[in-house]
Amino acid sequence: MMAVIPGFKEWQVAQLKDVSKSLMPRPTGKNNGNGWVEPELIETANQVPIHTLMEFDKGDKALCLWHDEDTPSLSYNREGNFVKCFGQCGEAHSAIDVYQKINNCDFVTAVKALTS
Ligand SMILES: [Zn+2]
Repeated sequence: MMAVIPGFKEWQVAQLKDVSKSLMPRPTGKNNGNGWVEPELIETANQVPIHTLMEFDKGDKALCLWHDEDTPSLSYNREGNFVKCFGQCGEAHSAIDVYQKINNCDFVTAVKALTS
């Protein structure tokens, strides 16, 4: 069954479903030189609602954090808790990605901050 997401066209919803699948499951732990985080922590970090990390308009859209723009093209999928840019970069990002981008920090720092 296709969930109806306001502001999304059908092909976008389909694409979001694919993205949702590709984002889960998350990597089984990650060591980037700044320590190791357990897979469970990564999962928990990615469950932190992205709308608590950044602001979205009523249509759950925001200016993309990964490219410069005047019109919001970053869409928030609350069900899957990820954002996807329908503009220039076209990338999907998890809560950890968003935290890293906003705070300009590494992966492990982001996971620890989101789960502390
Ligand atoms: Zn973008």
